[in-house]
Amino acid sequence: MVSRTTDDYIKMVTAGCAAVCEPAFWAGFDRSSAQGFYDYFCQLTEHEPKRAAKFGLPHFTWLCINPKESEDVKLAEDVLAIIPQFLDKPNVLGIGEIGLNKNSRNELKVLEMHVDLAARHNQLILVHTPHLEDKLKGTKLIIDVLKNDKRIQPERCIIDHVEEHTAKLAHDAGFWAGMTLYPETKCTAARAIDILEYYGTDRIWMNSACDWGISVPLAVPYAALEMRKRGYSADWIDKVVYQNPIAFMKQSPRFNLPES
Ligand SMILES: [Zn+2]
Repeated sequence: MVSRTTDDYIKMVTAGCAAVCEPAFWAGFDRSSAQGFYDYFCQLTEHEPKRAAKFGLPHFTWLCINPKESEDVKLAEDVLAIIPQFLDKPNVLGIGEIGLNKNSRNELKVLEMHVDLAARHNQLILVHTPHLEDKLKGTKLIIDVLKNDKRIQPERCIIDHVEEHTAKLAHDAGFWAGMTLYPETKCTAARAIDILEYYGTDRIWMNSACDWGISVPLAVPYAALEMRKRGYSADWIDKVVYQNPIAFMKQSPRFNLPES
């Protein structure tokens, strides 16, 4: 949301969105210092919640240095060192979106550092998996890292950007699975619903790709319309787009919706 206009907030509220949950991620450019991340974390924990509140939307966030900027391990160490001071902010749900981008050695090291940070502070984890041809290998590597840390409870982690070939992998290992909806490329609403039809609606959610690039903040409401077209009941749709995200995020004591 930090890169979207207020028009998007108005559209989201109008479409029935009840909250926005924004992961720390790549800004479209590499930040040059830990201080750049400090300012970004202030934006995510102080300024953006105030902007969202003006439109009646509770705003929650996740903190990390994203995989795309994880090649510089020293920078990552400096950024991880400043995260704990933000973990008690009222809108912080956990550590994310961490994970892998190119499946490199340094990315793996920084992923392990984040998992350790989450374990030490008892935080939920939101994981980004690589796109396209690196996805399967990256998802397996990520699951190994999470499984190798015995302090991590899989039901407190969501593995995002799953597609047809990785949804079962994440699910069978006990994790939640997230499907990020994109307007044209990657996972579309139709594909996401196909995945639900194949694997069921337990421990799975969908979210809107929503950033500085071509993306649609209302992707989840549009997917709900698509579900209705396919004849699904209001209860089935409600479970996928509303109850499931609440069930996962409520594992954080800081997640509260007025009506939940
Ligand atoms: Zn991502």
